[in-house]
This record gives sequence, C-alpha cells and structure tokens, in this order.
Amino acid sequence: MTHTITLIPGDGIGSEVTSAVQKVIAATNVAIDWETVNGGEEAYKATGKFIPDELLESISKNKIAFKGPITTPIGTGFKSINVTLRQKYHTYANVRPVKTIPGIKTPFENIDLVIVRENSEDLYKGIEHWVTDGVAEAIKVITEKASTKIGEYAFEYAKKYNRKKVTAVHKANIMKISDGLFLDSIRKVAEKYPEIEYEEVIVDNMCMQLVMYPENYDVLVLPNLYGDIVSDLAAGLVGGLGLVPGANIGEDIAIFEAVHGSAPTIAGKNIANPTACILSAAMMLDYIGETKAATLVREAVATVIKEGKATTQDIGGTATTEEITEAICNYITSAK
Ligand code: ATP
Repeated sequence: MTHTITLIPGDGIGSEVTSAVQKVIAATNVAIDWETVNGGEEAYKATGKFIPDELLESISKNKIAFKGPITTPIGTGFKSINVTLRQKYHTYANVRPVKTIPGIKTPFENIDLVIVRENSEDLYKGIEHWVTDGVAEAIKVITEKASTKIGEYAFEYAKKYNRKKVTAVHKANIMKISDGLFLDSIRKVAEKYPEIEYEEVIVDNMCMQLVMYPENYDVLVLPNLYGDIVSDLAAGLVGGLGLVPGANIGEDIAIFEAVHGSAPTIAGKNIANPTACILSAAMMLDYIGETKAATLVREAVATVIKEGKATTQDIGGTATTEEITEAICNYITSAK
C-alpha cells in the first residue's frame, strides 16, 4: 500500500534533514508518495504566505505530515507557524521520547523519558496585548478539557508501552488556579490507572531533578510552555537537539517533526545531524502501521552511532549529513 504524506521541508537545515528522511524511508521500501509543499520563510519568499493554502489543503487531505523546522520571525507580529498548524489540526499531544543512544558521550547511561506536552493552549494561545505604554500582558489559558485529554493520552501511552510511572509537572504553588486546574485534571485521570505510579513535581525542582537523576523519570506530562522548555533540557541530557524526535498527535491528523528548530547558523553546510528527523520518521512509520520498518530504522541509527564511523560534529564525529544518512541507508539495505 502506498501512503500519501505531506512533506514540509521547512527552513534552515530543514531541507537537508528532511531529504535524509526521504532517503532512509526509500531504503526501507515502505512506499510513500511524498506531497512536498513548503511553509515558513522559504514559502513566504515564493508565495507571499508563511502558510500557503496549498499546504493546508494537503495536510487536511492526507492527514499525515512530516515537517522540517520552520522559522517564525521574532517580534514581527506573526503568530508562530508551528503553533498555528498545531492549533488548526488540533494536534493536542506533543510526544517526545528522549532516550540514551549508546556511543554518545554524556554523563548518564540509562535515560528513557517520554515527554507528553499539552500542545493546544497555555501561553501558546498567543493572546497578548498592551495594557498601556510599557506594560504588556499575556494570557495563560488552561482548560479542564485539554488537561484531562493530555492526562488521558499520557496514561494510555504509559499503559500501551508498559511504562511504570507518570509524573505531572506544574507550578501550582504559584499559579494556583491555572496550574491547579491542570493538576486536578491529571490527578482525576491518574485515579483510573492504579497500576501506574503517579507523582507530581514542581517545574523548577523537575529541572534540577532531571539534570541530577534523569534515570528516575519515565513519562512526564506537562502544560505547553513547561513541556517546551523541559524538552530542550532533556535533549541536552542525551547529547543534544540533533537526536530527539517528536510527534504532534491529534484525533485523526498527525504531524511528525524533530524537537529542534531551523538552526540557521549551521544551515546549508551539510553538517546538521539528521538523527532527530530520522527517528521522528520511525515514529511516523509506527503510526502508519509499518512497525517492522520503524524498528529497522531505529536499529540502523543505533548501530551507526554506536560504531562511530559516521557521526556528525554535534555528537563528536566528522561525518556530513549525507554521510551519516548513507551509512544508515546502507545498514537498512543490508539488513533487510
Ligand atoms: P529556531 O529559531 O528555528 O528554533 P534556533 O537556532 O534558535 O532555531 P534550534 O534550531 O533548535 O534553535 O537549535 C539550537 C542549536 O542547537 C543550533 O544552533 C545548533 O547548534 C544545535 N542544533 C539544533 N538542531 C541540530 C541538528 N539537527 N544537528 C546539529 N545541531 C543542531
């Protein structure tokens, strides 16, 4: 069966790392008909729109997209394109597995975290205004509905993948009403899963715990902003942003993308690490039912990195984006 999937190359290193994904999937022989439509700065230059209508139509039709990083101009009045897409398609859960990859030097050995970040509200609603000259206000929106939904997603995920513990991360000691509602909603969900351990940790303490004892944590469920920040912190624990994949999951639409952004300083140099995007593609293969291919892709990435013959600069090697991609493709082709 051929799967038609929207491909958004994105900005900066986007075209380099998404082209790696296309090569790796081709090596698995999973038949994907890529419908390439860009968004972001590149699209703006070509069409005058950051999100062309053609892109929205393609995602609505195909229901699955693979997205490279998209740059949002800072402070120009543009709403983030990433946030716009997540809100438009109600991809309410942002799932980011953060796992130790043997062969990469870090102070930790057995990190295996899954970050489940609420993806539709909180300060990311983008409701901001000037109160008066020199005073700005941003509104943090937390609803029982979205908090319960992300709680259910986190516990169902834990159940499905045999995870032992869910930790809710919050700042309800200060934001008693909004974070209090988030916490209450998650707590109610937790009661329905007595077999899964549940705990609550305040976000600042969570950051310290993660840099000292990351192996103590399993599934983390967080409101949008804390989820974003803690994701980058967690990426640092396993070797950096070049390694951590992600998925935006909705009722019937899913958009797969790495945690990292467009990394403009290394764009166009053939040095970006495509691993995060390739592992996001493995999550996509699982989602479309191609689990054998997904496992093979993960195995290929793990083997190539462990052998250390073709690793990129960010993880201590000298290989180019194309060289590590080729090594991963070669492993897949010979293991099939
Ligand atoms: P954006 O504004 O689009 O989020 P940014 O440069 O502020 O872009 P990231 O793109 O997330 O933030 O990257 C931060 C830094 O992490 C980059 O400058 C780069 O050094 C490193 N980095 C991110 N992704 C990769 C990657 N795939 N390979 C190697 N290094 C990466």
